[in-house]
Amino acid sequence: MNLPPWRQIKNRTMTSDKLDQRPSAIREAVQNEYAFATAYFDRLTAISTDPAGGITRDTYGPGEDAAHRIMADIAQECGFDLRVDIAGNTYARWETGPGRKTVVVGSHLDSVPRGGNFDGAAGPLAGLIAMRVLRRLGAEPHVSLCAMGIRAEESVWFQTSYIGSRAALGTLPHDTYDAARRIDTGRTLADHMRASGCDVDALRNGARPLDPAGLAAYIELHIEQAPSLVEDAKPVGICTAIPGNFRYPDARIKGVHGHVGTPRRFRTDAALAAADLAMAMDTLWSKQEAAGNPMAVTFGRFHTDDAYHGLTTVPGLFHFSLDVRAYDAVHLDMVEREFHAIITRIEADRNVSIDLGERKSAPVGKADLAIRTGFATAARDLGIDFMEMGSPASHDAAAFAAAGVPMGMIFVRNENGSHHPNEAMEIDDFLDGSAVLTAYLYDRYCQ
Ligand SMILES: [Zn+2]
Repeated sequence: MNLPPWRQIKNRTMTSDKLDQRPSAIREAVQNEYAFATAYFDRLTAISTDPAGGITRDTYGPGEDAAHRIMADIAQECGFDLRVDIAGNTYARWETGPGRKTVVVGSHLDSVPRGGNFDGAAGPLAGLIAMRVLRRLGAEPHVSLCAMGIRAEESVWFQTSYIGSRAALGTLPHDTYDAARRIDTGRTLADHMRASGCDVDALRNGARPLDPAGLAAYIELHIEQAPSLVEDAKPVGICTAIPGNFRYPDARIKGVHGHVGTPRRFRTDAALAAADLAMAMDTLWSKQEAAGNPMAVTFGRFHTDDAYHGLTTVPGLFHFSLDVRAYDAVHLDMVEREFHAIITRIEADRNVSIDLGERKSAPVGKADLAIRTGFATAARDLGIDFMEMGSPASHDAAAFAAAGVPMGMIFVRNENGSHHPNEAMEIDDFLDGSAVLTAYLYDRYCQ
């Protein structure tokens, strides 16, 4: 009989042969997706190459819209059921039976301005590849499978996290639609979403395209956004947790503008107060890491006021944004209390006032232990080297975890970090990560 390799394996009795051959059949089938993977990335490059360098797929704008159309086209070319929800998320579904729960494999299709091609976009592709391979090998999942292209993950555009996934899960606060404005256009999120074909009124009235109760799991494959896997010479990482954060997008330090000749004792210098704050936060970070508590502190914007600043002016106004993240809720709370103590001290020392502006936050997202263990087993079976690691970055997976959906993430080695044009991922490494995903889906849902 000339059955596909999967049927041959399934129809055998349980022997060591079966255990030996299952991983190699999957690995080979996933490696055969090399051309499919490069064609997908090439199609995205063609619509999102920024004349100023890198890749730009603007959130709820022409760039992201075009990426979702490409995913929709590919879903149909592959013969999967295409859906687009009222928040603009795109789904390629493999319905295996009525009433079954769904495993969603997804990530975002937007990018930061002048970013890289793989950040986000690798996730839905991994889902598509896993579904293509399982279908081709004759696997019979007892859940429905779905690759999801998610909207609006990059918070640089609307300064809000996980817009597309939270809108789908019904967890995005309803005032966000009018309160959030895109940083470059000044138009509201609602306005941008309507232009991209979304039904904002239905979302505001409580419509929820993705019911968490109907989801068996959410899995995300993403490039690593730091060089830990490069450093350890491993192609794949398995996520333990996604950091929670507190953020101040628009904080200001108010001092008094003065003449450059003003003696030190008369100055209230907002720039030096900002320098004190940055150094104090860096010291806090360094001490916490030395004590075994990983975290990160980022002043993404840090500048004097361009309406007043100049060579001969003591700065009386300073602007900054702050993102502080950690992997444990209790630890994050402690760091935030320390941050406020530092603010109070600097206000007294420098005689300035610090207006933090609006506070935003996201909870810590713990990866599901059974999924982590399943990924590790799959990687060992496939002979793919891996390490377990906390995610350096925030991901939609945290929004699913917060909605009570078991979550797992696979990271792929990336040579030069992300959020810039030099981001680099080897397709072979991506296919290793996709093989771990595919083998896990087979082990967990097709036996
Ligand atoms: Zn990303």
